Amino acid sequence: MVIINGAGIAGMTLANLLQASGVAYLLIEKAPKLEALGAGIILQNNGLAILEKLDVLRCLNGHDVNEMCVGYNRQIKVLEAQRMGMKCKVVHRADLQSALLSNIPTSNVRLNVCIKHFDIQGQNVHVNLSDGSTLLGSYLVDGSGINSHLFTQPKLFNSNHWCWRSIVNLRQPIARSGEYWFGKQRLGIAPISHTQAYVFHVIDMQKGESESSYPIDVRQRWIKQQIEVVDDIKQLDFDDAQWLSHPLLDRDINWGQGRLVAIGDAAHAMTPNLGQGAVLAMEDAFELAKLILKDDTNPAQTMRQNRHKRVKAVHKQSRYVGKIAHNEYWAFKIIKRVFFAFMPMSLAVKAQVKWMNQFIKQIEG
Ligand SMILES: Cc1cc2nc3c(=O)[nH]c(=O)nc-3n(C[C@H](O)[C@H](O)[C@H](O)COP(=O)(O)OP(=O)(O)OC[C@H]3O[C@@H](n4cnc5c(N)ncnc54)[C@H](O)[C@@H]3O)c2cc1C
Repeated sequence: MVIINGAGIAGMTLANLLQASGVAYLLIEKAPKLEALGAGIILQNNGLAILEKLDVLRCLNGHDVNEMCVGYNRQIKVLEAQRMGMKCKVVHRADLQSALLSNIPTSNVRLNVCIKHFDIQGQNVHVNLSDGSTLLGSYLVDGSGINSHLFTQPKLFNSNHWCWRSIVNLRQPIARSGEYWFGKQRLGIAPISHTQAYVFHVIDMQKGESESSYPIDVRQRWIKQQIEVVDDIKQLDFDDAQWLSHPLLDRDINWGQGRLVAIGDAAHAMTPNLGQGAVLAMEDAFELAKLILKDDTNPAQTMRQNRHKRVKAVHKQSRYVGKIAHNEYWAFKIIKRVFFAFMPMSLAVKAQVKWMNQFIKQIEG
């Protein structure tokens, strides 16, 4: 049996893959129920291919992005994403979680419990749970997210950027998704349906500032002031908006040891600047399921061999993108302005598509 700690995107994707292959597994989740949490999530080529393989994509509501806007101060560029091979779907995170959960029998999920102790002897994994019960498995998979301390204390890096996210009602449908850089502040707007959009707002915290320096009304006012640059803002109706708020952190990469394998954020939480955290978690699950089916005796080491280079590159790039986006030192501003004016953005999109599709070839192969 495969014991999976954490029913997040990584854990549930692995559960779906094991379910489809007829491998016994149990999902352990500390929350008392699997609630509809979170705001939006942007899924790109690699993540969508995995969901399609799991037969989950066809029942997932969301908005397929055709045109994407990228903006730096008052300059805006519109990219035809689909024409460049970029598949991008914006969904409500709760819908993704429900879709993944729909294939998992309730008897394979144990809620409201945590691992108190584990011991790995040869091929056997012994686990003691907080409710006093014990489990015997052949693999222990840690998918318990960025703060996991199952096998090591997390080493977290704080980017000093704070992110607020919400699902916001729309007055009129909007067609485009966009991310707009305004120096210290960054704004993202992506429709998830005709009536709602996922909105994120990132602020580079200055010395002495904290979350409370930016009350909701101050932030919403700032967003509305950008209407003259981003026309779609006039469709946002903030009346019922509930904002989630977090610092943007990443975690040193660690894949575990032997039959204890970390996947998703427990292995490599990254800043969300490239929108690849969840899809890399799904890729990990896909790779690990293959190793489990082959009875790999040291899957943590094999994951490190097969996945580390790819994951590390995104982890690092994502940090850089965050730094570049908010760096307003004069030399940086000039570089950004020149880059933005003259760099054909399509090249960046094509490189990203090529990188994402490398994984799809693996799925198909
Ligand atoms: C602001 C923001 C925006 C993002 N946007 C995107 C995006 O657009 N696209 C994208 O691909 N990624 C995005 N990400 C990244 C993405 O959210 C994560 O990479 C993804 O959720 C990781 O999934 P996970 O299953 O590894 O961890 P989680 O989703 O954190 O799930 C962990 C699960 O483990 C459970 N758990 C925790 N501790 C224990 C324990 N001790 N015992 C048992 N269970 C436990 C938790 O309750 C939870 O259910 C974003 C992240 C942030 C912060």
